[in-house]
Amino acid sequence: MTTILERTKRTVLDEYLSRTRRSAELDKRARAFLPGGDTRTTVYFAPYPVYMERGRGCRLYDCDGNEYLDFLNNYTSHIHGHAHPAVTEAGCAAMGRGTIFGSPAEIHMAHAAHLCRRIPGLESIRYCNSGTEATMFALRAARAFTGRDLVVKMDGGYHGSHDVAEVNLIPDLESEGLPRPRVERGVPACTLEGVLIAPFNDLEAMEELLTRNKGRVAGVIVEPIMGASGLLNPAPGYLEGLRQMTESLDVLLIFDEVITFRLHEGGYQTREGIAPDLTALGKIIGGGLPVGAFGGRAEIMAVYDPNQPRSVGQGGTFNGNNATLAAGLATLKLYDQAACDRLNGLGDRFRQGFARALEGAGIAARLTGQGSLASIHWGGVPPQNARQAVAGARSHAELVRLLHLCLLNRGVHTAARGMYVLSTALTEAEVDQALEAVRESLEVLRPVVEEGWPLLLTR
Ligand code: PMP
Repeated sequence: MTTILERTKRTVLDEYLSRTRRSAELDKRARAFLPGGDTRTTVYFAPYPVYMERGRGCRLYDCDGNEYLDFLNNYTSHIHGHAHPAVTEAGCAAMGRGTIFGSPAEIHMAHAAHLCRRIPGLESIRYCNSGTEATMFALRAARAFTGRDLVVKMDGGYHGSHDVAEVNLIPDLESEGLPRPRVERGVPACTLEGVLIAPFNDLEAMEELLTRNKGRVAGVIVEPIMGASGLLNPAPGYLEGLRQMTESLDVLLIFDEVITFRLHEGGYQTREGIAPDLTALGKIIGGGLPVGAFGGRAEIMAVYDPNQPRSVGQGGTFNGNNATLAAGLATLKLYDQAACDRLNGLGDRFRQGFARALEGAGIAARLTGQGSLASIHWGGVPPQNARQAVAGARSHAELVRLLHLCLLNRGVHTAARGMYVLSTALTEAEVDQALEAVRESLEVLRPVVEEGWPLLLTR
């Protein structure tokens, strides 16, 4: 006998397959040249991802002619949606003058001055080409400045894909107490010699780690809101506590604001009045082109000053290329505090509307995140750390997958894992349109929840 889950999966999948025939064809052809048909693990989902062809503002158009509201924004890299005229013009004009010349350019200084004005904790900054490089170089600055090798990262924390960042990218779901450091295939086991792992939102565990390793730790890297594990908000006082603790134990604090910078004109740190020693940036500061940046206290960043003895090298053929920084500066100028407040308001509307839709459907789930960022967690209690979040996501994997496909079938493009990202290109009308799709999708899910996850029913 087929279950409601199997029947619903079949119906939802059939609709997806019939809407995306050309994507299926392209996927089949791509598998001959790209492992799994894709070039970015994050964007893959079964049976195959949609091939988007073009984007304009808050809308995307796929190769079968379907239109979508974009509630993904390339995993937070776009703040004004797609092809904003002022950003496109600035980027194209820079390309027309030549992209990079193997020399400094005034745009470096202009972009850097703009960021340093917005973020008081940034005194000095360097550019690179991805958030991965930004966290890698920030950690290197911390090691060079302190003369120590160890760094602390969070269990399940995502800081890109360099070796150190890969340690416990997937949180430890098995150990009791402190998470055990672990690497996945392909990352050398010796990486573990340089990394300690702490659970997010746990000051006691951090204090234990830092005290046990006193004098050996260069820095602690943390995202103010844990993004990839499901936008986990910091508990009240956690980041302040971390700042005080690292300062008193003489350890540098590195904020990865690759995602959270978008929440305030001066980033999360400025909004909360917590100054880390170093900050990693990326995504929106490049106007939709590849970018990363890292900076902080001038005395630390001076390790990269070639005029200093034994300075640290920082190569990168495309560091600070003119097109990226011109498009990025145009983007930032359009994203002042008023634009930010308006966008955060749209995010509040989305999260509140989503919560009402869940209430209406009688399903227990929570929306985490802040401002223009939201993530769904199934169950009545929002997770405090990655271990809880990932365990929750795994035990509701079928619901996560069904909701994602239901939304796609209704023209709303989101992250397969249940993350929603808004852009300034949206208006209230489009947020409400997406919420209607959420309501319809939850109606499809209700019988599935009744059958397989009765503990989630609130009525
Ligand atoms: N840090 C965080 C918090 C991120 O979310 C990401 C990317 N999602 C990165 C670093 C890495 O950035 P990139 O993909 O540009 O290498």
